Amino acid sequence: MIIVMKADLPADSSELNRIIETARAYPGITTEVHRVQGATRSLTEVYLLGPTGVVPSIKFEQFESVEKVVRITQKFRSIGRHDGAIDSVGFEYNGVRISQDSLHLFPGLCAVDTRENVGRTFAALERHGIVTARAGAYKPRTSPYDFQGRGAACLPWIFEAAGKHGIRIVAMEVTHEAQLDEIRAALASSGGATGVMLQIGTRNAQNFELLRAAGQQHEFPVLYKRGMGITIEESLNACEYIASGGNRRIVFCLRGVKSNLGDPHRNLVDFAQLPVVKRLTRLPVCVDPSHAVGRRDRSADGIQDLFHAAAQGVIAGANLLLVDVHPRPEEALCDGPQALTLDDLDELVEDIAIVRQAYEARVRLRKRRTERSS
Ligand code: PEP
Ligand code: MN
Repeated sequence: MIIVMKADLPADSSELNRIIETARAYPGITTEVHRVQGATRSLTEVYLLGPTGVVPSIKFEQFESVEKVVRITQKFRSIGRHDGAIDSVGFEYNGVRISQDSLHLFPGLCAVDTRENVGRTFAALERHGIVTARAGAYKPRTSPYDFQGRGAACLPWIFEAAGKHGIRIVAMEVTHEAQLDEIRAALASSGGATGVMLQIGTRNAQNFELLRAAGQQHEFPVLYKRGMGITIEESLNACEYIASGGNRRIVFCLRGVKSNLGDPHRNLVDFAQLPVVKRLTRLPVCVDPSHAVGRRDRSADGIQDLFHAAAQGVIAGANLLLVDVHPRPEEALCDGPQALTLDDLDELVEDIAIVRQAYEARVRLRKRRTERSS
């Protein structure tokens, strides 16, 4: 059960305390207070957790400062598309608007290796007018003997290069809550040169403590990667852990699922589920063809499989495209076989522009058909 308080409730409201006391008087009920900053107003919500079936709504509706009491019968209460959804679709972060209508490319290094390679990669993005990038500092690897990322040591390289080349958002995986402080400190030392979108990787897709930590901070948006071996519903529930902490600036990312049925690709491409996520939730949706396909092979038409997979996502209305790029893929310390060269990136940018136009034409076609039949 969620008690939605009237907008702009003062933090020291005495009614809020009485509501919490009333709720806790019921056996087994605990409460959590969430403050949600929407586009135009701030909202306070009191979540009642436990056996709420016997708790009457009327008890709370009587309070002057209560707007409404919502019984949770719908799935995905915070991120879902249903009545009572309070935030508009999408969000703006560091001057970049991300929504279910926009498309942004986030190319970059899977794992940062040298200062020079970050600089070369971000310079290439600047030449294309791209202001959003990826850069991995903390790498959760399958084997403990593989390169684990440069960690906090490479954050200054990333943020300085981002500032120099006009990058406004860097998507960066975090594997532990403590890394948020390292990122904050390095960002502050760089004079706030850029913004960071925290990436929760597929290996942490159900690390509920990490998800809660990402949700309880409201500074950085979160790019949530679908778990490689779990259903869409399970992944969306994991996203609810982030959103229920009050951080609604979430992007959902499809990156393929683990199955030998995807061979010879690294994962089985799951981008056909993109429209499903857009229908069920208000979240912008990202596709990551690099981790889905995992190699630079070309098809009979000469086009890389990875480009074809990217196109599948974009023609279905993807809002973000996360792509591994490396100036010298053969020297990359992580995921070199799937990294595009800077020359490949030039082609990808043109290719994606063609596909995006095709998607927009498809949307216009559908609109015309709907108007004609109404
Ligand atoms: C990544 O994007 O660097 C990554 C490790 O991806 P995933 O979590 O999808 O495997
Ligand atoms: Mn990778």
